[in-house]
Amino acid sequence: MPHALVWFRHDLRLDDNPALRAALEEGYTPIPLYIRAPREEGEWAPGGASDAWLHRSLAALDADLRSRGSRLLMRRGASAAVLDEVLTDTGAEAVFWNRKYEPATQPRDAALKKVLRERGLRVESFNGSLLFEPWDLATQQGGPYKVFTPFWRSALAQWRAPAPWDAPDTLPTFDKKVQGDLLDTWQLKPALGWDAGFWETWTPGEAGAGEALDVFIDGALRGYRTDRDRPDRTGTSKLSAHLHFGEIAPWRITAELERARTAANGADMDGYIRELGWREFAYHLLHHFPHTPTQNLNPRFEHFEWAKVDQDALAAWQQGRTGVPIVDAGLRELWATGYMHNRVRMIVASYLVKHLRYHWLHGARWFWDTLVDADLANNTLGWQWTAGTGADAAPYFRVFNPVTQAEKFDPKGTYIARWVPELTDVPVPLRFAPWQKPDVLARVASDYPRRPLVDLMEGREGALAAYRKTGD
Ligand code: FAD
Repeated sequence: MPHALVWFRHDLRLDDNPALRAALEEGYTPIPLYIRAPREEGEWAPGGASDAWLHRSLAALDADLRSRGSRLLMRRGASAAVLDEVLTDTGAEAVFWNRKYEPATQPRDAALKKVLRERGLRVESFNGSLLFEPWDLATQQGGPYKVFTPFWRSALAQWRAPAPWDAPDTLPTFDKKVQGDLLDTWQLKPALGWDAGFWETWTPGEAGAGEALDVFIDGALRGYRTDRDRPDRTGTSKLSAHLHFGEIAPWRITAELERARTAANGADMDGYIRELGWREFAYHLLHHFPHTPTQNLNPRFEHFEWAKVDQDALAAWQQGRTGVPIVDAGLRELWATGYMHNRVRMIVASYLVKHLRYHWLHGARWFWDTLVDADLANNTLGWQWTAGTGADAAPYFRVFNPVTQAEKFDPKGTYIARWVPELTDVPVPLRFAPWQKPDVLARVASDYPRRPLVDLMEGREGALAAYRKTGD
Protein backbone atom coordinates (compact mmCIF):
# COMPACT_ATOMS: atom_id res chain seq x y z
CA MET A 1 0.00 0.00 0.00
CA PRO A 2 1.50 3.45 -0.83
CA HIS A 3 2.13 5.76 2.12
CA ALA A 4 1.03 9.36 2.71
CA LEU A 5 2.23 11.72 5.43
CA VAL A 6 -0.69 13.24 7.29
CA TRP A 7 0.83 16.35 8.81
CA PHE A 8 -1.09 17.28 11.98
CA ARG A 9 -1.01 20.91 13.10
CA HIS A 10 -4.09 22.69 14.50
CA ASP A 11 -6.23 19.61 13.89
CA LEU A 12 -5.30 17.28 16.75
CA ARG A 13 -8.19 14.88 16.24
CA LEU A 14 -9.15 11.86 14.13
CA ASP A 15 -12.90 12.38 13.55
CA ASP A 16 -13.78 15.06 10.99
CA ASN A 17 -10.17 15.27 9.89
CA PRO A 18 -10.28 15.96 6.12
CA ALA A 19 -6.54 15.28 5.57
CA LEU A 20 -6.69 11.89 7.30
CA ARG A 21 -9.91 11.03 5.55
CA ALA A 22 -8.48 11.88 2.11
CA ALA A 23 -5.39 9.75 2.72
CA LEU A 24 -7.55 6.77 3.70
CA GLU A 25 -10.08 7.20 0.92
CA GLU A 26 -7.32 7.40 -1.66
CA GLY A 27 -5.88 4.10 -0.46
CA TYR A 28 -2.77 5.34 1.34
CA THR A 29 -1.35 4.08 4.60
CA PRO A 30 -1.33 7.30 6.64
CA ILE A 31 1.82 8.23 8.56
CA PRO A 32 0.56 10.68 11.17
CA LEU A 33 3.25 13.30 11.75
CA TYR A 34 3.57 16.27 14.09
CA ILE A 35 6.47 18.69 13.63
CA ARG A 36 7.64 20.93 16.47
CA ALA A 37 8.83 24.15 14.83
CA PRO A 38 7.76 27.05 17.07
CA ARG A 39 10.10 29.58 15.44
CA GLU A 40 8.19 29.25 12.20
CA GLU A 41 5.28 31.02 13.93
CA GLY A 42 7.34 34.23 13.82
CA GLU A 43 6.82 36.49 16.81
CA TRP A 44 3.78 34.45 17.86
CA ALA A 45 5.49 31.23 18.88
CA PRO A 46 3.13 29.42 21.28
CA GLY A 47 3.23 30.64 24.88
CA GLY A 48 3.74 28.62 28.05
CA ALA A 49 0.08 27.77 28.66
CA SER A 50 -0.41 26.70 25.04
CA ASP A 51 2.61 24.43 25.23
CA ALA A 52 1.35 22.85 28.44
CA TRP A 53 -1.95 22.07 26.67
CA LEU A 54 -0.16 20.89 23.53
CA HIS A 55 1.80 18.30 25.50
CA ARG A 56 -1.38 16.66 26.71
CA SER A 57 -3.17 17.01 23.41
CA LEU A 58 -0.34 15.30 21.52
CA ALA A 59 -0.22 12.52 24.10
CA ALA A 60 -3.97 12.02 23.69
CA LEU A 61 -3.73 11.97 19.89
CA ASP A 62 -0.90 9.43 20.02
CA ALA A 63 -2.94 7.23 22.38
CA ASP A 64 -5.99 7.46 20.10
CA LEU A 65 -3.88 6.49 17.10
CA ARG A 66 -2.25 3.60 18.96
CA SER A 67 -5.60 2.23 20.03
CA ARG A 68 -6.37 1.95 16.31
CA GLY A 69 -3.08 0.33 15.30
CA SER A 70 -1.18 3.47 14.22
CA ARG A 71 0.88 6.05 16.14
CA LEU A 72 1.98 9.68 16.02
CA LEU A 73 5.46 10.32 14.68
CA MET A 74 6.82 13.40 16.48
CA ARG A 75 9.86 15.21 15.15
CA ARG A 76 11.46 18.53 16.04
CA GLY A 77 13.14 20.81 13.46
CA ALA A 78 12.48 23.01 10.46
CA SER A 79 9.32 21.76 8.77
CA ALA A 80 10.91 21.53 5.30
CA ALA A 81 13.85 19.51 6.61
CA VAL A 82 11.71 17.19 8.72
CA LEU A 83 9.29 16.51 5.87
CA ASP A 84 12.26 15.75 3.67
CA GLU A 85 13.72 13.28 6.20
CA VAL A 86 10.44 11.52 6.83
CA LEU A 87 9.66 11.27 3.14
CA THR A 88 13.07 9.66 2.61
CA ASP A 89 12.74 7.35 5.64
CA THR A 90 9.29 6.12 4.69
CA GLY A 91 9.18 6.38 0.89
CA ALA A 92 5.82 8.15 1.24
CA GLU A 93 4.40 9.41 -2.04
CA ALA A 94 1.98 12.02 -0.79
CA VAL A 95 1.57 14.68 1.90
CA PHE A 96 -1.82 15.80 3.21
CA TRP A 97 -2.53 18.52 5.75
CA ASN A 98 -5.29 20.77 7.02
CA ARG A 99 -4.71 24.47 6.55
CA LYS A 100 -3.45 26.95 9.12
CA TYR A 101 -4.21 30.62 8.58
CA GLU A 102 -1.61 32.57 10.55
CA PRO A 103 0.36 35.15 8.53
CA ALA A 104 3.70 33.47 9.37
CA THR A 105 2.78 29.93 8.44
CA GLN A 106 0.58 30.49 5.40
CA PRO A 107 3.46 31.47 3.08
CA ARG A 108 5.59 28.65 4.50
CA ASP A 109 2.90 26.12 3.62
CA ALA A 110 2.39 27.57 0.15
CA ALA A 111 6.14 27.35 -0.53
CA LEU A 112 6.31 23.77 0.78
CA LYS A 113 3.38 22.72 -1.37
CA LYS A 114 5.11 24.08 -4.47
CA VAL A 115 8.49 22.45 -3.72
CA LEU A 116 7.00 19.08 -2.84
CA ARG A 117 4.80 19.03 -5.93
CA GLU A 118 7.82 19.88 -8.08
CA ARG A 119 9.40 16.73 -6.69
CA GLY A 120 6.48 14.76 -8.09
CA LEU A 121 4.70 14.17 -4.77
CA ARG A 122 0.98 14.41 -4.38
CA VAL A 123 0.27 17.28 -1.97
CA GLU A 124 -3.18 18.40 -0.85
CA SER A 125 -4.43 20.74 1.83
CA PHE A 126 -7.92 20.97 3.30
CA ASN A 127 -10.10 23.10 5.53
CA GLY A 128 -10.05 21.40 8.91
CA SER A 129 -10.84 24.34 11.21
CA LEU A 130 -13.53 26.62 9.89
CA LEU A 131 -17.12 26.69 8.71
CA PHE A 132 -16.03 29.03 5.91
CA GLU A 133 -12.61 29.56 4.41
CA PRO A 134 -11.50 33.11 5.27
CA TRP A 135 -11.72 34.07 1.59
CA ASP A 136 -15.14 32.46 0.95
CA LEU A 137 -17.25 35.45 1.94
CA ALA A 138 -16.95 38.86 0.33
CA THR A 139 -18.94 42.10 0.28
CA GLN A 140 -20.90 43.08 -2.81
CA GLN A 141 -17.87 45.07 -3.93
CA GLY A 142 -15.78 41.91 -3.61
CA GLY A 143 -13.78 43.09 -0.59
CA PRO A 144 -13.46 41.82 2.97
CA TYR A 145 -16.09 42.49 5.60
CA LYS A 146 -15.20 44.81 8.46
CA VAL A 147 -18.55 44.62 10.21
CA PHE A 148 -19.75 41.41 11.81
CA THR A 149 -23.52 41.55 11.19
CA PRO A 150 -23.42 41.60 7.37
CA PHE A 151 -20.57 39.07 7.45
CA TRP A 152 -22.68 36.70 9.49
CA ARG A 153 -25.83 37.35 7.46
CA SER A 154 -23.92 36.36 4.34
CA ALA A 155 -22.50 33.28 6.13
CA LEU A 156 -25.96 32.10 7.16
CA ALA A 157 -27.27 32.62 3.62
CA GLN A 158 -24.50 30.41 2.23
CA TRP A 159 -24.43 27.83 5.04
CA ARG A 160 -22.87 24.55 3.94
CA ALA A 161 -21.23 22.80 6.88
CA PRO A 162 -19.78 19.41 5.95
CA ALA A 163 -21.40 16.28 7.36
CA PRO A 164 -19.58 14.80 10.37
CA TRP A 165 -17.18 11.93 9.62
CA ASP A 166 -16.13 9.28 12.17
CA ALA A 167 -12.61 7.95 11.85
CA PRO A 168 -12.42 4.16 11.37
CA ASP A 169 -11.84 1.93 14.42
CA THR A 170 -8.63 0.58 12.94
CA LEU A 171 -5.91 2.28 10.95
CA PRO A 172 -3.10 0.71 8.92
CA THR A 173 0.19 0.26 10.78
CA PHE A 174 3.37 1.78 9.35
CA ASP A 175 6.99 0.62 9.59
CA LYS A 176 8.09 0.25 13.23
CA LYS A 177 11.66 1.21 12.30
CA VAL A 178 10.62 4.81 11.58
CA GLN A 179 11.11 6.54 14.90
CA GLY A 180 10.22 9.96 16.26
CA ASP A 181 11.18 11.99 19.34
CA LEU A 182 9.87 11.16 22.77
CA LEU A 183 7.29 13.81 23.66
CA ASP A 184 8.87 14.43 27.08
CA THR A 185 12.12 15.53 25.47
CA TRP A 186 10.33 18.55 24.00
CA GLN A 187 9.83 19.93 27.52
CA LEU A 188 6.45 21.42 26.77
CA LYS A 189 5.30 20.75 30.32
CA PRO A 190 6.29 23.60 32.65
CA ALA A 191 9.21 22.49 34.80
CA LEU A 192 7.91 24.43 37.81
CA GLY A 193 4.44 22.92 37.60
CA TRP A 194 2.58 26.27 37.53
CA ASP A 195 -0.04 24.58 35.39
CA ALA A 196 -1.05 22.13 38.14
CA GLY A 197 -4.41 23.85 38.67
CA PHE A 198 -5.28 23.81 34.97
CA TRP A 199 -6.12 20.16 34.78
CA GLU A 200 -8.92 20.32 37.32
CA THR A 201 -10.77 22.26 34.62
CA TRP A 202 -9.41 20.89 31.34
CA THR A 203 -8.96 17.58 29.58
CA PRO A 204 -6.99 18.29 26.42
CA GLY A 205 -7.59 15.96 23.49
CA GLU A 206 -10.42 14.82 21.27
CA ALA A 207 -12.24 12.85 23.97
CA GLY A 208 -12.06 15.85 26.33
CA ALA A 209 -13.50 18.09 23.62
CA GLY A 210 -16.40 15.71 22.98
CA GLU A 211 -17.10 15.52 26.69
CA ALA A 212 -17.07 19.32 27.04
CA LEU A 213 -19.58 19.56 24.19
CA ASP A 214 -21.89 16.98 25.80
CA VAL A 215 -21.72 18.75 29.15
CA PHE A 216 -22.59 22.03 27.45
CA ILE A 217 -25.51 20.62 25.47
CA ASP A 218 -26.93 18.96 28.59
CA GLY A 219 -26.35 22.02 30.76
CA ALA A 220 -25.40 25.61 29.98
CA LEU A 221 -26.84 25.65 26.45
CA ARG A 222 -30.26 26.31 27.95
CA GLY A 223 -30.03 29.95 28.98
CA TYR A 224 -26.80 30.59 27.04
CA ARG A 225 -27.93 33.91 25.63
CA THR A 226 -28.20 35.53 29.04
CA ASP A 227 -25.82 33.45 31.14
CA ARG A 228 -22.92 33.71 28.70
CA ASP A 229 -22.26 37.13 30.20
CA ARG A 230 -22.19 35.88 33.79
CA PRO A 231 -18.75 34.95 35.09
CA ASP A 232 -20.35 33.82 38.36
CA ARG A 233 -22.18 31.02 36.54
CA THR A 234 -21.17 28.18 34.23
CA GLY A 235 -22.83 29.77 31.25
CA THR A 236 -20.55 28.94 28.29
CA SER A 237 -19.15 25.90 26.53
CA LYS A 238 -15.43 26.20 27.43
CA LEU A 239 -14.62 24.83 24.00
CA SER A 240 -12.22 27.57 22.89
CA ALA A 241 -8.94 25.72 23.55
CA HIS A 242 -10.35 22.53 22.03
CA LEU A 243 -11.31 24.55 18.95
CA HIS A 244 -7.93 26.26 18.80
CA PHE A 245 -6.03 22.97 18.83
CA GLY A 246 -8.52 21.43 16.42
CA GLU A 247 -9.62 18.73 18.86
CA ILE A 248 -13.15 19.21 17.60
CA ALA A 249 -14.43 20.56 14.28
CA PRO A 250 -16.86 23.51 14.41
CA TRP A 251 -19.18 21.65 12.04
CA ARG A 252 -19.31 18.72 14.49
CA ILE A 253 -20.42 21.21 17.14
CA THR A 254 -23.16 22.67 14.95
CA ALA A 255 -24.32 19.19 13.88
CA GLU A 256 -24.53 17.98 17.50
CA LEU A 257 -26.36 21.15 18.49
CA GLU A 258 -28.87 20.73 15.66
CA ARG A 259 -29.54 17.17 16.83
CA ALA A 260 -30.37 18.53 20.26
CA ARG A 261 -32.52 21.43 19.00
CA THR A 262 -35.89 21.84 20.70
CA ALA A 263 -38.45 24.63 20.76
CA ALA A 264 -37.08 25.62 24.17
CA ASN A 265 -33.40 25.92 23.30
CA GLY A 266 -33.52 27.19 19.69
CA ALA A 267 -32.76 30.83 20.47
CA ASP A 268 -29.89 29.90 22.79
CA MET A 269 -28.52 27.62 20.12
CA ASP A 270 -28.64 30.34 17.47
CA GLY A 271 -26.94 32.68 19.92
CA TYR A 272 -24.19 30.13 20.43
CA ILE A 273 -23.69 29.50 16.71
CA ARG A 274 -23.40 33.26 16.27
CA GLU A 275 -20.45 33.23 18.71
CA LEU A 276 -18.82 30.59 16.54
CA GLY A 277 -19.46 33.15 13.82
CA TRP A 278 -17.22 35.64 15.64
CA ARG A 279 -14.46 33.07 15.41
CA GLU A 280 -15.07 32.81 11.67
CA PHE A 281 -15.02 36.62 11.44
CA ALA A 282 -11.70 36.70 13.32
CA TYR A 283 -10.13 34.36 10.76
CA HIS A 284 -11.61 36.37 7.90
CA LEU A 285 -10.01 39.53 9.31
CA LEU A 286 -6.66 37.90 10.04
CA HIS A 287 -6.49 36.61 6.48
CA HIS A 288 -7.37 39.92 4.87
CA PHE A 289 -5.46 42.12 7.31
CA PRO A 290 -2.41 40.05 8.26
CA HIS A 291 -0.66 43.04 9.87
CA THR A 292 -3.29 43.34 12.62
CA PRO A 293 -1.71 41.07 15.27
CA THR A 294 0.70 43.97 15.91
CA GLN A 295 -0.79 47.01 14.18
CA ASN A 296 -4.09 48.87 14.52
CA LEU A 297 -6.63 48.04 11.88
CA ASN A 298 -8.07 51.55 12.17
CA PRO A 299 -5.41 54.03 10.96
CA ARG A 300 -6.96 56.75 13.12
CA PHE A 301 -4.99 55.27 16.03
CA GLU A 302 -1.62 55.50 14.30
CA HIS A 303 -0.60 58.53 16.37
CA PHE A 304 -2.68 57.79 19.45
CA GLU A 305 -0.89 58.83 22.64
CA TRP A 306 -0.56 55.56 24.52
CA ALA A 307 0.88 56.08 28.00
CA LYS A 308 4.49 55.17 28.76
CA VAL A 309 4.45 51.80 30.49
CA ASP A 310 5.32 51.68 34.17
CA GLN A 311 6.65 48.13 34.60
CA ASP A 312 5.39 47.88 38.19
CA ALA A 313 1.89 48.89 37.15
CA LEU A 314 1.94 46.42 34.25
CA ALA A 315 3.10 43.67 36.62
CA ALA A 316 0.28 44.60 39.04
CA TRP A 317 -2.23 44.23 36.20
CA GLN A 318 -0.72 40.90 35.13
CA GLN A 319 -0.76 39.55 38.66
CA GLY A 320 -4.23 40.76 39.57
CA ARG A 321 -3.18 43.43 42.09
CA THR A 322 -4.74 46.52 40.51
CA GLY A 323 -7.06 47.20 43.43
CA VAL A 324 -10.12 46.86 41.16
CA PRO A 325 -11.70 43.59 42.27
CA ILE A 326 -13.34 42.40 39.04
CA VAL A 327 -10.13 43.13 37.11
CA ASP A 328 -8.01 41.30 39.66
CA ALA A 329 -10.42 38.36 39.75
CA GLY A 330 -10.16 37.92 35.98
CA LEU A 331 -6.39 38.08 35.88
CA ARG A 332 -6.10 35.63 38.76
CA GLU A 333 -8.56 33.25 37.11
CA LEU A 334 -6.33 33.41 34.04
CA TRP A 335 -3.18 32.62 36.02
CA ALA A 336 -4.79 29.76 37.94
CA THR A 337 -6.67 28.07 35.10
CA GLY A 338 -5.27 29.35 31.77
CA TYR A 339 -8.71 30.77 30.98
CA MET A 340 -10.76 33.88 31.62
CA HIS A 341 -14.46 34.46 31.11
CA ASN A 342 -15.24 36.50 27.97
CA ARG A 343 -17.03 39.33 29.77
CA VAL A 344 -14.11 39.64 32.16
CA ARG A 345 -11.60 39.54 29.28
CA MET A 346 -13.33 42.66 27.99
CA ILE A 347 -13.24 44.32 31.41
CA VAL A 348 -9.55 43.64 32.12
CA ALA A 349 -8.61 44.59 28.56
CA SER A 350 -10.57 47.82 28.75
CA TYR A 351 -8.90 48.69 32.05
CA LEU A 352 -5.48 48.21 30.46
CA VAL A 353 -6.11 50.09 27.22
CA LYS A 354 -8.31 52.86 28.58
CA HIS A 355 -7.79 53.49 32.30
CA LEU A 356 -4.05 52.73 32.15
CA ARG A 357 -3.91 53.74 28.46
CA TYR A 358 -1.32 51.08 27.65
CA HIS A 359 -1.04 49.85 24.08
CA TRP A 360 -3.24 46.79 23.60
CA LEU A 361 -0.21 44.73 22.52
CA HIS A 362 0.97 44.61 26.15
CA GLY A 363 -2.25 42.84 27.03
CA ALA A 364 -2.37 40.72 23.88
CA ARG A 365 1.13 39.41 24.62
CA TRP A 366 0.27 38.57 28.23
CA PHE A 367 -2.84 36.70 27.12
CA TRP A 368 -0.77 34.96 24.45
CA ASP A 369 1.53 33.50 27.06
CA THR A 370 -1.06 32.64 29.69
CA LEU A 371 -4.25 31.53 27.88
CA VAL A 372 -4.71 27.86 27.03
CA ASP A 373 -6.95 29.02 24.18
CA ALA A 374 -4.47 31.65 22.89
CA ASP A 375 -5.40 31.99 19.24
CA LEU A 376 -3.91 34.63 16.97
CA ALA A 377 -7.14 35.39 15.12
CA ASN A 378 -9.41 35.53 18.19
CA ASN A 379 -6.91 37.27 20.44
CA THR A 380 -6.20 39.95 17.86
CA LEU A 381 -9.90 40.52 17.31
CA GLY A 382 -10.61 40.62 21.06
CA TRP A 383 -7.89 43.14 21.84
CA GLN A 384 -8.47 45.39 18.85
CA TRP A 385 -12.22 45.25 19.49
CA THR A 386 -11.82 46.29 23.13
CA ALA A 387 -9.24 48.94 22.29
CA GLY A 388 -11.56 50.43 19.67
CA THR A 389 -8.81 50.10 17.06
CA GLY A 390 -10.25 47.12 15.18
CA ALA A 391 -13.11 46.01 12.97
CA ASP A 392 -16.64 46.53 14.26
CA ALA A 393 -14.97 47.63 17.48
CA ALA A 394 -16.43 49.08 20.64
CA PRO A 395 -15.90 52.82 20.10
CA TYR A 396 -12.88 54.01 22.06
CA PHE A 397 -14.92 56.66 23.84
CA ARG A 398 -17.20 54.01 25.36
CA VAL A 399 -15.13 53.29 28.46
CA PHE A 400 -16.24 50.27 30.52
CA ASN A 401 -16.71 51.12 34.18
CA PRO A 402 -15.41 48.02 35.98
CA VAL A 403 -17.54 48.73 39.04
CA THR A 404 -20.85 48.86 37.20
CA GLN A 405 -19.77 45.90 35.06
CA ALA A 406 -19.18 43.87 38.22
CA GLU A 407 -22.51 45.00 39.73
CA LYS A 408 -24.32 43.90 36.61
CA PHE A 409 -22.57 40.65 35.73
CA ASP A 410 -21.40 39.39 39.15
CA PRO A 411 -24.22 40.85 41.25
CA LYS A 412 -23.53 38.82 44.40
CA GLY A 413 -19.76 39.25 44.08
CA THR A 414 -19.23 35.47 44.09
CA TYR A 415 -16.86 35.48 41.12
CA ILE A 416 -14.78 38.15 42.82
CA ALA A 417 -14.74 36.27 46.12
CA ARG A 418 -13.70 33.06 44.36
CA TRP A 419 -10.60 34.54 42.76
CA VAL A 420 -9.79 37.30 45.25
CA PRO A 421 -10.49 35.43 48.49
CA GLU A 422 -9.10 38.23 50.65
CA LEU A 423 -12.26 40.17 49.74
CA THR A 424 -14.66 37.47 50.94
CA ASP A 425 -15.38 39.38 54.15
CA VAL A 426 -15.92 42.67 52.36
CA PRO A 427 -19.70 42.87 51.93
CA VAL A 428 -21.44 43.52 48.61
CA PRO A 429 -21.75 46.20 47.19
CA LEU A 430 -18.52 47.46 48.80
CA ARG A 431 -16.75 44.41 47.32
CA PHE A 432 -17.08 46.01 43.88
CA ALA A 433 -15.24 49.20 44.90
CA PRO A 434 -13.59 48.57 48.29
CA TRP A 435 -11.45 51.73 48.18
CA GLN A 436 -14.60 53.66 49.01
CA LYS A 437 -14.30 52.57 52.66
CA PRO A 438 -10.57 52.40 53.43
CA ASP A 439 -11.21 51.65 57.12
CA VAL A 440 -13.27 48.52 56.31
CA LEU A 441 -10.69 47.42 53.76
CA ALA A 442 -7.87 47.87 56.25
CA ARG A 443 -9.77 45.90 58.89
CA VAL A 444 -10.99 42.89 56.88
CA ALA A 445 -8.68 42.69 53.85
CA SER A 446 -5.39 44.23 54.89
CA ASP A 447 -3.48 42.47 52.09
CA TYR A 448 -5.56 44.01 49.32
CA PRO A 449 -4.41 47.28 47.62
CA ARG A 450 -5.83 50.33 49.35
CA ARG A 451 -6.45 52.24 46.14
CA PRO A 452 -6.84 51.33 42.45
CA LEU A 453 -3.70 51.70 40.32
CA VAL A 454 -5.44 54.55 38.60
CA ASP A 455 -8.45 56.52 39.76
CA LEU A 456 -11.34 55.39 37.56
CA MET A 457 -12.56 58.90 36.77
CA GLU A 458 -9.06 60.22 36.03
CA GLY A 459 -8.26 57.21 33.85
CA ARG A 460 -11.45 57.68 31.90
CA GLU A 461 -10.84 61.40 31.38
CA GLY A 462 -7.24 60.74 30.29
CA ALA A 463 -8.40 58.18 27.75
CA LEU A 464 -11.05 60.48 26.32
CA ALA A 465 -8.64 63.40 26.09
CA ALA A 466 -6.11 61.26 24.20
CA TYR A 467 -8.86 60.04 21.91
CA ARG A 468 -10.03 63.58 21.12
CA LYS A 469 -6.53 64.42 19.92
CA THR A 470 -6.78 61.77 17.18
CA GLY A 471 -9.37 63.87 15.29
CA ASP A 472 -13.10 63.51 14.82
P1 FAD B 1 -18.48 30.28 24.30
O1 FAD B 1 -19.26 31.43 24.77
O2 FAD B 1 -18.94 28.92 24.70
O3 FAD B 1 -18.27 30.41 22.77
C1 FAD B 1 -18.12 29.30 21.88
C2 FAD B 1 -16.95 29.53 20.97
O4 FAD B 1 -17.17 30.64 20.12
C3 FAD B 1 -15.67 29.83 21.71
O5 FAD B 1 -15.05 28.64 22.12
C4 FAD B 1 -14.87 30.58 20.66
O6 FAD B 1 -14.21 29.70 19.77
C5 FAD B 1 -15.94 31.34 19.91
N1 FAD B 1 -16.07 32.69 20.46
C6 FAD B 1 -16.85 33.11 21.48
N2 FAD B 1 -16.71 34.43 21.67
C7 FAD B 1 -15.83 34.85 20.75
C8 FAD B 1 -15.26 36.12 20.44
N3 FAD B 1 -15.61 37.23 21.10
N4 FAD B 1 -14.36 36.20 19.44
C9 FAD B 1 -14.00 35.10 18.73
N5 FAD B 1 -14.51 33.86 18.99
C10 FAD B 1 -15.41 33.75 19.98
N6 FAD B 1 -10.85 33.53 22.22
C11 FAD B 1 -9.98 32.56 21.89
O7 FAD B 1 -10.39 31.46 21.51
N7 FAD B 1 -8.62 32.77 21.97
C12 FAD B 1 -8.10 33.97 22.38
O8 FAD B 1 -6.88 34.13 22.40
C13 FAD B 1 -9.01 35.00 22.77
N8 FAD B 1 -8.55 36.18 23.24
C14 FAD B 1 -9.46 37.17 23.59
C15 FAD B 1 -8.98 38.40 24.05
C16 FAD B 1 -9.87 39.40 24.43
C17 FAD B 1 -9.34 40.73 24.92
C18 FAD B 1 -11.25 39.18 24.34
C19 FAD B 1 -12.23 40.24 24.75
C20 FAD B 1 -11.75 37.97 23.88
C21 FAD B 1 -10.86 36.95 23.49
N9 FAD B 1 -11.33 35.70 23.02
C22 FAD B 1 -10.42 34.73 22.66
C23 FAD B 1 -12.77 35.47 22.77
C24 FAD B 1 -13.58 34.83 23.92
O9 FAD B 1 -13.32 35.48 25.12
C25 FAD B 1 -13.31 33.33 24.08
O10 FAD B 1 -13.39 32.67 22.84
C26 FAD B 1 -14.33 32.70 25.03
O11 FAD B 1 -14.30 33.34 26.28
C27 FAD B 1 -14.04 31.23 25.19
O12 FAD B 1 -14.89 30.64 26.13
P2 FAD B 1 -15.98 29.58 25.68
O13 FAD B 1 -15.39 28.55 24.77
O14 FAD B 1 -16.64 29.08 26.92
O15 FAD B 1 -16.97 30.50 24.86
